[in-house]
Amino acid sequence: MSPVYALAQNAPESLAILLQKQSALEQSGDKAALAALNRQIAEISRKTLIDQGYRVGEIAQLPNTASVFQIPILQGPANTNLQKTITEASDRFKISYVIQVGDLHFGSYDSPTNKIQLSPRNLLLPPREMFNTILHETRHAFFWNKAARGIRSPLNIDVSPLGNQPLTDIPLYDTYFHFQEMATHHRDFQQIRAGANSAYVLEGESLPRIIETKAERTIGFAETVQKYSGLATKALKDENISLVNKPNFTFRDYKFSSYGMTLRVPVTNPGSDIPFAEVRILLPGVTKDTPDEEVRKIALDLLSESKKQGEKEQAFMSDELKAFRADPLVGRGHNSCQVMFGAIPR
Ligand SMILES: [Zn+2]
Repeated sequence: MSPVYALAQNAPESLAILLQKQSALEQSGDKAALAALNRQIAEISRKTLIDQGYRVGEIAQLPNTASVFQIPILQGPANTNLQKTITEASDRFKISYVIQVGDLHFGSYDSPTNKIQLSPRNLLLPPREMFNTILHETRHAFFWNKAARGIRSPLNIDVSPLGNQPLTDIPLYDTYFHFQEMATHHRDFQQIRAGANSAYVLEGESLPRIIETKAERTIGFAETVQKYSGLATKALKDENISLVNKPNFTFRDYKFSSYGMTLRVPVTNPGSDIPFAEVRILLPGVTKDTPDEEVRKIALDLLSESKKQGEKEQAFMSDELKAFRADPLVGRGHNSCQVMFGAIPR
């Protein structure tokens, strides 16, 4: 998937050109030139943010890097949803926001620093898309902050393959999938759906198509959640296989030790006893001293809850899609808008 990004009307053209140069320089390995270029990108990004009404801090080079720069975002433009969200996130949860120059992702949440990192490429899109990226990542940050406060969630579960078999056929989510995506994409969908009449659009694609894509993607996520919850439940329940007695099944800490224990459950396809993936269940409040049977019960409850949420999400999205496709405006009114940006996977 290689989306083509056309310029938003108010995006600085020079930023687009510099970002193109950046990918070329990253390949060439000329570190000094890359550092100079990234600083220039940081300066233009900072100016663009200020022009769009953001309150920002000074550019800082990330310690121990040659060419990674950060611009702190202190507040969103006045009287926007974003402003409210950033206020809540920073006051209540001490979440901070930066534009990071020298980062591949559109947006990501870094849990050790409780920081949301955004690519300057967001600034090539209409301001609303930057809002959506920030809101999406903030929702992830809220999930992690809940865990940090000891609150368990059926969506604080992830899955990784143990071999080469892809997990899903959803682009970007074939080698790692986090259950949170179901909830974050649900909210993205609602946001876009609510703004269905506004004049921002895709290159070569209509707004209804974006909404459909988002809904279909959320359905795909819901199915993934259901599938892996079901397999992990089975693995934990199955007395015959008794995975607990297998050497590769361990109740042990994972790297997010500050959140508590992460239970790792190898999962197999029906009829096979060779695990092809590992489901990791975050269990705040569970310690090394919690008896295995209690850990198992807590995990089973979370898994059954996540499976239920997957089912609910699927039904909801299918109904939304049906209603949306039946809408007489779909396929007419929204198609006449101007071209602005490509589909953005997150
Ligand atoms: Zn996400």
